[in-house]
Amino acid sequence: MKILLTGGAGYIGSHTCVEIVQAGHDAVIADDLSNSKPAVLERLKELTGKDIPFYQIDVADKEKVDEMFAKEHFDAVIHFAGYKAVGESVTKPLMYYRNNIDTALTLLEVMEKYDVNNFVFSSSATVYGVPETVPLVEGMKTGCTNPYGWTKLMIEQILTDASAANKNLSVVLLRYFNPIGAHPSGRIGEDPNGIPNNLLPYITQVAIGKLPQLGVFGNDYPTHDGTGVRDYIHVVDLAKGHVKAIEYADEHKGTEVFNLGTGTGYSVLDIVNAFEKANDLKIPYVIKPRRSGDVAEMYADPKKAKEVLNWVAEKNLVDMCQDSWRWQSNNPKGYDE
Ligand code: NAD
Ligand code: UDP
Repeated sequence: MKILLTGGAGYIGSHTCVEIVQAGHDAVIADDLSNSKPAVLERLKELTGKDIPFYQIDVADKEKVDEMFAKEHFDAVIHFAGYKAVGESVTKPLMYYRNNIDTALTLLEVMEKYDVNNFVFSSSATVYGVPETVPLVEGMKTGCTNPYGWTKLMIEQILTDASAANKNLSVVLLRYFNPIGAHPSGRIGEDPNGIPNNLLPYITQVAIGKLPQLGVFGNDYPTHDGTGVRDYIHVVDLAKGHVKAIEYADEHKGTEVFNLGTGTGYSVLDIVNAFEKANDLKIPYVIKPRRSGDVAEMYADPKKAKEVLNWVAEKNLVDMCQDSWRWQSNNPKGYDE
């Protein structure tokens, strides 16, 4: 299949590009580079042995997207492009609604025009809101605590309605848990702008000496050590889930939703300890107050993805910690080197 990866220059999209090509498909990337660097394209060439066609466009720009579709004859779209910082979405909600919703609508309209009928969407476990129970199962109640999450839930609804109206359209909604790690080559990885919001990039920047210490947000949660519990998943496992999802979409119609997680929860201190042990390093930390909007515990029930997509996460926490550190230590300035 020839697959369009919107946001394919970003963290998850770039890892998915490698897996897509390795599975024998053709990838094309469209990205405006608002949160990624052009250097990733060279690295992708190195890893895949292919020049991945690249369009530097805003995926909400219908004219540009239309021109690209006219030229490329896609079989499927994986839609990663969007803004993703929860805190920023609270202060700039309109920017988040505009970018995230517009990109999805533009793609759907242009796909209909060119009769492209397979759509895989990057959703998030954040659509479960504040969970009443864990593990989280796909059919559970949804609801969000911030504008970013609402964009994901709204797009899930838009896609579900579009596939109900257009019987040819096949939609797979992937609810990611917490992607961490990097490609084992150390050539591609997560390269956040400024001070990282997420736990793993923060830890690796402490390890490299860029930041003095980690702040642990709360140690009074009802969890085994009081710190927040999440389902961390290796980005390469996540990327492989997209290959399964796109192949599933090609063979089925309608909308399906899948959790992509490991099913195991680790606390912040579990992660700190695992990172120290896996890499023989010390991560100084201090306990800070809870971060507003955080929940105590989130982890997936990954059974549906296993049964229906034949996908399971294969990498463990040691792999995740070692691969995160290899990426950071080999590329102290990310892609800027
Ligand atoms: P990322 O920021 O690294 O990648 C997103 C890419 O989209 C970036 O390269 C950015 O330049 C591009 N982009 C943004 N708006 C665009 C537009 N209008 N037109 C073209 N390109 C545009 O983020 P990521 O971590 O790789 O996440 C990919 C997707 O997965 C996002 O939709 C995100 O919301 C979702 N997701 C991420 C996580 C996570 O923890 N990383 C968790 C759940 C869901
Ligand atoms: N966290 C932390 N310090 C940080 C960043 C995150 O203690 O500097 C905690 C956060 O409170 C949560 C977990 O690490 O319990 C994962 O946070 P992250 O922002 O990576 O992902 P989230 O699950 O919030 O999307």
